[in-house]
Amino acid sequence: MEIFGLGIGTFRFGLFAAIFLIMAIAETLMPRRERRHTRQRRWFVNLGMMLLDFLAVSAVTFVIPITAIIAALWASAHGWGLLNMVEWPVWLEWLIAIVVLDWVIWAQHLATHKIPILWRIHRVHHSDVEMDASTAVRFHPLEIVFSVFVKVAAILLLGPAALAVVVFEALVNGSALFNHANFNMPHALDALVRRLFVTPDMHRVHHSVHVSETDSNYGFFLSIWDQMFGTYVAQPRDGHDRMAIGLNEWQDDRPTRLGWAFLLPFRNPSASASASGSRSRGKGSASARE
Ligand SMILES: [Zn+2]
Repeated sequence: MEIFGLGIGTFRFGLFAAIFLIMAIAETLMPRRERRHTRQRRWFVNLGMMLLDFLAVSAVTFVIPITAIIAALWASAHGWGLLNMVEWPVWLEWLIAIVVLDWVIWAQHLATHKIPILWRIHRVHHSDVEMDASTAVRFHPLEIVFSVFVKVAAILLLGPAALAVVVFEALVNGSALFNHANFNMPHALDALVRRLFVTPDMHRVHHSVHVSETDSNYGFFLSIWDQMFGTYVAQPRDGHDRMAIGLNEWQDDRPTRLGWAFLLPFRNPSASASASGSRSRGKGSASARE
């Protein structure tokens, strides 16, 4: 399959590099928050994690040749999934595909916060002590491999067109780079955009050290799910300038080390908890954990 005459891999990487560059320039020209850690160390970790993700997914798909696109092509050839069983207008099938897949990603993100073993893996993303476009690719390889299987399962049930899957992935990845970026979006524009899409100010709430805020705003692309399911928090209670980003237990420079971040899922949070309190999940109420 080709997009604009490019292979899928080249198209994806080119789009990522272009959006990342635009966001990095926007962050430099109009930063939202003052930077407390150098970009070099964090970028090394976050982009290094992306490289490890690429290697892990390549290794897994070498053994089990299943990707989102292969699953969509297979579902289409074998008549699997709702959209392969109906004859609806193409625009409607594409709209359903993008909206439903976005809900699946939202629900998966919610699950990674609520299920302790998944939170161990997902907290690698949250351990970043600053937030910028590079945070969007800071995911542990285990989480990325897990999300491939979730997406494949959803595609086999839904049966979207393979091209709709490519477009959906480009939208979600582009949106993640945008809403993790540390740039100052005019308030009026933010208010307008977030009615439908996740903005940087909306997603920054999700990276707060306060658990009640971390457990909110799970969307990566559409903002409607958080508004619909009551997980929407409009602004951080400490304000965007003063709020602490990351995890309470690790507010030092350990998250800026690649080896540390890679081993974080296997670390016991209570052993490293600071005096400010542990955030063990799955036990007690949000208020008891803060
Ligand atoms: Zn999260």
